[in-house]
Amino acid sequence: MNATASRPQPILPPATLGMLGGGQLGRFFVSAAHEMGYTVWVLDPDSESPAGRIADRHLCAAYTDETALDEFAAACAAVSTEFENVPAATLEKLATRTLVRPSARAVSVCQDRIEEKLFVQSLGLACAPFAALRNAADWRAMEESGVNLFPGILKAARLGYDGKGQAAVEDEAAARAAWSEMGQPPCVLERRLALDCEISVILARAADGATQVFPVAENQHRNGILDISIAPARIGEKLRRQARDAAACIAGALDYVGTLAVEFFVSDGTLYVNEMAPRPHNSGHYTLDACNVSQYEQQVRALVGLPLARVRSFGASVMVNLLGECWQDGGPDWKTLYATQGVRVHDYGKRTARRGRKMAHFTVVGEDVEAVYSRALAVRKKVVVL
Ligand code: ADP
Ligand code: MG
Repeated sequence: MNATASRPQPILPPATLGMLGGGQLGRFFVSAAHEMGYTVWVLDPDSESPAGRIADRHLCAAYTDETALDEFAAACAAVSTEFENVPAATLEKLATRTLVRPSARAVSVCQDRIEEKLFVQSLGLACAPFAALRNAADWRAMEESGVNLFPGILKAARLGYDGKGQAAVEDEAAARAAWSEMGQPPCVLERRLALDCEISVILARAADGATQVFPVAENQHRNGILDISIAPARIGEKLRRQARDAAACIAGALDYVGTLAVEFFVSDGTLYVNEMAPRPHNSGHYTLDACNVSQYEQQVRALVGLPLARVRSFGASVMVNLLGECWQDGGPDWKTLYATQGVRVHDYGKRTARRGRKMAHFTVVGEDVEAVYSRALAVRKKVVVL
């Protein structure tokens, strides 16, 4: 094999890159790619999508629109995604015409909670005890197994995010009722764990397998939605190493190329994989302000075949999400927020605020994680009414 065959040439600026999905994660990708000199097209059906509004071209069409996909594939030298629910068929179709990273297969494993959990277990990694429930026979098998999954959480296998498509269930009668209420889609029933904390690992993996892992983040949720991320997570070194190794193992097994996020539960000192996201992640926003390279720039680098940057963090950071409810009384107190030194603000330019909708975030960076955390909470108290 000659050197050129084993090491393909990177796609260099001003080449055009494509992003499937136009949310805030896509918007940060567009900014990172622009910073590096690339041209970016975004495909998203929402005419006011945050990424579409700053892209060089916004194809406002459905992810299944054949004409739009043809135009997108013809224009883009490489395509990535910020939205894990892009139909696998869309990625497969694009992959026949252009470079698609991560692959349709990697994305499809992350799209289906049943596939995802079976995949994680096949690698010898633990997840919360669960049953896959696709039909009446699966429900019977669960009963007969005698495994107690209650109190539990019933989760639709597909299309859930931010706690949507989930129901807390105390017993089997409640689980069956919730399943009917959802319209009996394939689901997983998962035992509810008593959580010490939740953490996530974000990494970037290049086509040659080189992997760069960001510092582990500790995540606090409110109503099933990420509220605050603290990096580095306040956990012991053994758990930190286990989480980083588990994430790298998953990425390797998926032959993943791009930025990948893995969410974990820590319960009674033990690590459980919760779920994967085949894209940058809300809990990695801190990399924009607290690291030498962001999860979005790494996504660009992996996509185009440039070397990944060796990750270095500038200190401890706390990221606070600002959801639609903060807009009820006229929105956050921007003047105070911007007047607070050491705070970095990111607003996604969304025109409509809805309860639970991610509108903006701010990050506080400093030396001592506890001090930064207290500071972030104090800033939030001053600028939003919750
Ligand atoms: P989503 O796709 O909405 O992020 P998750 O499965 O990550 O779905 O669930 C959202 C949040 O709900 C989790 O981050 C966690 O706080 C809580 N949760 C989900 N499953 C469990 C569980 N088995 N035990 C305890 N808490 C859970
Ligand atoms: Mg989650």
